[in-house]
Amino acid sequence: SHSASDRVLAGLDPEQRAAVTAPAGPVCVLAGAGTGKTRAVTSRIAHRVLTGEILSRHLLAVTFTARAAAELRSRLTALGVPGVQARTFHAAALRQVRYFAPRLLAGRAMPELLDSKVRLVTLAAAKVGIRADRTGTRDLAGEIEWAKSSLVEPGEYVVAAAKALRETPYEPARVADVFAAYEQVKRSGGVIDFEDMLRAAIWGIEEHPDVADQVRAQYRHFVVDEYQDVNPLQQRLLEAWLGGGDDLTVVGDASQTIYSFTGATSSYLVDFPRRHRSATVVRLVRDYRSTPQVVGLANAVISPARGSEARLRLELVGQRPPGPEPDLRIFTDEPAEAAAVAARCRALIDAGTPAREIAVLFRTNAQSEVYEKALTEAEVPYQVQGAERFFERVEIRQAMVALRAATRSLPGGIPLPAAVVEALAAVGWAPDTPPAGGAARERWAALAALVQLAEEYAAAAPVVPIGPAAAVERPATLADFTDELARRAAAQHAPTVEGVTLASLHSAKGLEWDAVFLVGLAEGTLPTLYAKTPEQVEEERRLLYVGITRAREWLWLSYASARSPGGRPRRPCRFLPRLSPSGGSGRAGAGGARPSERRRTQIVSCRICGATLLAGAERKLGRCAACPSDIDEELHGRLREWRRRTAAGQRVPAYVVFTDAT
Ligand code: ATP
Ligand code: MG
Repeated sequence: SHSASDRVLAGLDPEQRAAVTAPAGPVCVLAGAGTGKTRAVTSRIAHRVLTGEILSRHLLAVTFTARAAAELRSRLTALGVPGVQARTFHAAALRQVRYFAPRLLAGRAMPELLDSKVRLVTLAAAKVGIRADRTGTRDLAGEIEWAKSSLVEPGEYVVAAAKALRETPYEPARVADVFAAYEQVKRSGGVIDFEDMLRAAIWGIEEHPDVADQVRAQYRHFVVDEYQDVNPLQQRLLEAWLGGGDDLTVVGDASQTIYSFTGATSSYLVDFPRRHRSATVVRLVRDYRSTPQVVGLANAVISPARGSEARLRLELVGQRPPGPEPDLRIFTDEPAEAAAVAARCRALIDAGTPAREIAVLFRTNAQSEVYEKALTEAEVPYQVQGAERFFERVEIRQAMVALRAATRSLPGGIPLPAAVVEALAAVGWAPDTPPAGGAARERWAALAALVQLAEEYAAAAPVVPIGPAAAVERPATLADFTDELARRAAAQHAPTVEGVTLASLHSAKGLEWDAVFLVGLAEGTLPTLYAKTPEQVEEERRLLYVGITRAREWLWLSYASARSPGGRPRRPCRFLPRLSPSGGSGRAGAGGARPSERRRTQIVSCRICGATLLAGAERKLGRCAACPSDIDEELHGRLREWRRRTAAGQRVPAYVVFTDAT
């Protein structure tokens, strides 16, 4: 109704409102962390549905993690628009492929979806005479994933890898051989991987006009959150869905691109306004999530960043009342660091902060273990999120095999989660009574978590394949669930329980907590030892930025000066501004609590395309070097000032920032 749509607008600032009420067609929201991008985009969906402009079943919202998709759904429900399809690219593609498979495969069974490349990569490497260890295999699998996500065929790999400055685990030509062998092994095994599945979805549309018609009759409006992490394969699928249509809203923050190692690129986001001349472009700078102290630290960490994302960056302005200063602590070793973090979690919980409002974030999942131990000792409940651990556990892998087998042998019609319990019982596993302790208890807990997942899945995900609306809404089956598990295993989504969140920085994107501990902020861990090229190092900086901006109120940063007691000394993470350890003054560069303290760096960028205007561009005063637009008048003044200061021998920053917010 009218008033419901007004209520949607009431909670927004003018820029957000502009994004919400923009006419049908391309819309692009470019903004930093915590500025309400996700809020703006969910409000746009709700507003359009509530005013009757669009039908919710014609809209598809896509994002990159299952948890983020669930977050979109729950925000939409809260806005009074339940039932909108919000999915990951993988889930949306899988549903489309499953739906059209009977027609496109002429009765043949759909190939099984691999949940990991590792086994076949090992085989492929052996075939070409490489005996790869665990790390080597993982890196090879990573290269293949990168290539396939970047639409690079085995024969094109060597050139493409050089162009993209890939750090290849073996000689590029050898990697290409493994890649080709992998494709062959996979084909002869009759299985497909996740990239193949996206390709099948694209192929279905591009090569089959009737499929294309049906998909486009269903989906007419698209939304992509976290668009900075789209890869060329996903972009191609998005374009296939659009089929020349342009009702597409994208939302993102190039400073939060943290998946470029798998082929993601912020260039689609950055270039969006140029590729869609009629796009409504909205920039947001008010940070609603974090205290000014946290915002100041985030600005200080990201402002020296180089790379294409720098052109679009606007300094965040904190909107919340001041809170505690971010705190940096240095410990002698990792167990001491973990014990202190656990003690602080305990104290927060005792003082009334719910455990689910606390997160401990780290660079690599291997860091989780010492925290799990310390939290257990402090009797703090926790959940490990985004860790491979859950899906890497032997019993979970065995259970998944059992479930897969049961999809073929169990009589149909048993609903979830009963079908899961039954399938597990068939292989002699009973998840209903907890054994006393030890390994049996652990297995029980893992199986119980699977059943709980099935329960949540059945409740949250009615099966709505891409296809005619008339054919949907049968209840989710065991086969749907095993597909979902395979997808989550690939995306590393562990089930959630109430407790302190232990998560990698990668899996924390888009989420927020009252209290955040960023641990292990030492050179070699963040940035990781494996970050060698300047591009890789910059991605590490963005990871830290993502981590800092997850905190609403409390932010604790820490590292151990040695990994184990008496170990080799380590230096603090290079991206941290000079924070003084534990309290006191000397927070130069980190605080930025008051606007007057904020860094006065200026970047001049073209308003039309966002390109940063460096010295070279300045010579073409009046024209932007990167796009054919005229630079507007205000910028001319800034450029003249910049030129005057350089001529007077004054030091000016290497590049100059322009914010159109002030
Ligand atoms: P990220 O880049 O981390 O994904 P985001 O830009 O998507 O962040 P949101 O998650 O949409 O930001 O918003 C951050 C927080 O600020 C949320 O708690 C949201 O409810 C709140 N918020 C957003 N816009 C407003 C507003 N206009 N008024 C008050 N609170 C807001
Ligand atoms: Mg968001």
